[in-house]
Amino acid sequence: MSRIAYVNGRYLPQADAAVHIEDRGYQFADGVYEVVAVQAGRLVDEVLHLARLDRSLAELRIAAPMSRPALAIVLREVIRRNRVCDGIVYLQATRGVAPRDHPFPADTRPSLVVTARRVRVANPKALDEGIGVITIPDIRWARCDIKSIALLPNVLGKQQAREAGAYEAWQVDRDGMVTEGTSTNAWIVTAAGELVTRQASSAILNGCTRVALLDIAKRTGLNFTERPFSVIEAKAAREAFLTSTTSPVLPIVRIDEAVIGDGRPGPLGRKLRALYSVHSDEQAARPDIA
Ligand code: PMP
Repeated sequence: MSRIAYVNGRYLPQADAAVHIEDRGYQFADGVYEVVAVQAGRLVDEVLHLARLDRSLAELRIAAPMSRPALAIVLREVIRRNRVCDGIVYLQATRGVAPRDHPFPADTRPSLVVTARRVRVANPKALDEGIGVITIPDIRWARCDIKSIALLPNVLGKQQAREAGAYEAWQVDRDGMVTEGTSTNAWIVTAAGELVTRQASSAILNGCTRVALLDIAKRTGLNFTERPFSVIEAKAAREAFLTSTTSPVLPIVRIDEAVIGDGRPGPLGRKLRALYSVHSDEQAARPDIA
């Protein structure tokens, strides 16, 4: 079955889908994106993702490519046409097509591309045994809160991790504090038992999984602190894990050469993973809006 993409008003087989060579996404990475998990054919945390999309677009002064209700329909149609039950839907919105010149073009319509594919959301071995991360300097720009398609430092960091035999790279700011992974948010349970993740700011992308998990922790009465933590503190932590749409609560058992806790996924991470799984099951079971 050929995969179907939505491109600027048309549903096309991916082999025939194309964007203009002067699309500003291609020329300048002048655009934003979202990745939403699909579970049992339903979107998980759609409201959070679409709110973040609106925010990213507004920060870059890119007009919404279509209304929210229309976008909700397109997302579902791409999921349906690709017969995705469990996987992801990807959307990318750019400032549109114009002769290559840095200032914003006048009267350009934003471009929208939507694709969907099946993926196994969690790798059982990684969940059971935990994964390793390396630490690298954070060389990104000062607006990491915008979900920009300009991901070159993230790509380089992830590749460095893979070449080092690790799953992810935790980026570290000039003060020695962890910002986040290249495509994931970073969490630790300190030696004293405090659940910590860095507060939302322009230094990190405020992950929808992060937001959902903090909300779950709050409702469950689990204490947490939103503050920066250092690499030294992380290496001495009892537990560590990362979160993202495609890897919700993935345990970390190694940071560089340091073994975390007893080298196995810890109990608080396990509990949070179970709670998140209840949350995503609830999202998948609710009546759909479109
Ligand atoms: N940080 C970065 C840099 C990311 O790219 C992502 C995933 N896109 C995340 C964090 C996690 O965000 P979410 O939970 O919304 O997938």
